[in-house]
Amino acid sequence: MSNNQDPLNAYYPGKFEKQEQEAPGLQQKMKPIPDCGEESYTGTGKLKGKRALVTGGDSGIGRAAAIAYAKEGADVAINYLPVEEADAQEVKAVIEAAGQKAVLIPGDLRNEEFNKEMVETAVEELGGIDILCSVAGEQTAVEKVEDLSTHQLRSTFETNVFSLVWTVQAALPHLEKGASIITTSSVQAYNPSKNLLDYAATKTAIVSITKSLASQLGEQGIRVNSIAPGPIWTALQISGGQPQEKIPEFGQKVTLQRAGQPVELSDVYVFLASDNASYVTGQVYGVTGGVEIN
Ligand code: NAD
Ligand code: MG
Repeated sequence: MSNNQDPLNAYYPGKFEKQEQEAPGLQQKMKPIPDCGEESYTGTGKLKGKRALVTGGDSGIGRAAAIAYAKEGADVAINYLPVEEADAQEVKAVIEAAGQKAVLIPGDLRNEEFNKEMVETAVEELGGIDILCSVAGEQTAVEKVEDLSTHQLRSTFETNVFSLVWTVQAALPHLEKGASIITTSSVQAYNPSKNLLDYAATKTAIVSITKSLASQLGEQGIRVNSIAPGPIWTALQISGGQPQEKIPEFGQKVTLQRAGQPVELSDVYVFLASDNASYVTGQVYGVTGGVEIN
């Protein structure tokens, strides 16, 4: 008998209960609670001595990255919205249990000034930044373009696109050779769902910005890459990212027939942040459960 894990039945292969929260939602109230590697991720020192700033680090994919970075030996600052303090405190406890420094920087990334303050705080508290990991994102499903409000259009672009550029601008003076910038795009960048018009467009923009930044920053020895997740079980989905009627079957229509858990992205976030990715820049790594099957 092999010791292999069956990818179809790993983690949580079942259907989900309908459950709605107001955005951005708290993952500690979700059923089941997403697996962000609190117990399931083990580090081996790949990021020893590095300093990471992770936006969206309170929950979901950003939390998985923040936890993995700490377990790999990095000190970690996380950003999130103030209403997410309860999730953020849990992440702080996991980072500290791993023996690393945790810095909490709540604030709204749609505010240009805050992006600068966030970076300055991270630099002061951590002594610098080696890994800039942008995971924060906003997603609200709207069926028809006629119903897409200007407020939502602006908000989605400010959170997902503008803040990425503002954060990089603020961080650049502090990034040294060997630093790594990681962005979070999506399968939506290539294959937009009809009810995610604005969100999918921001994810395409993130792929483009990632490649432009990689070209610009190569000569400074800074690598820039993106991760494109498929359907991952997170608070984003149950707080307006999907219509409630899509929640039970969320993720079941991909090759591996289940939603992924945030921890299944951890190794890729770690790899791209680490010196092991010394020849990797301008790339987009998919972690998608395969392709959408109809
Ligand atoms: P999540 O809700 O757990 O994380 C998103 C985080 O974004 C929130 O925790 C919040 O802290 C942050 N955020 C939102 N608006 C903000 C604002 N204005 N200011 C500061 N922070 C803000 O959900 P997730 O699925 O882990 O999302 C993380 C990233 O992964 C997002 O960029 C999302 O687009 C991307 N993604 C998710 C999926 C998926 O299926 N879950 C698929 C592809 C891409
Ligand atoms: Mg959250």
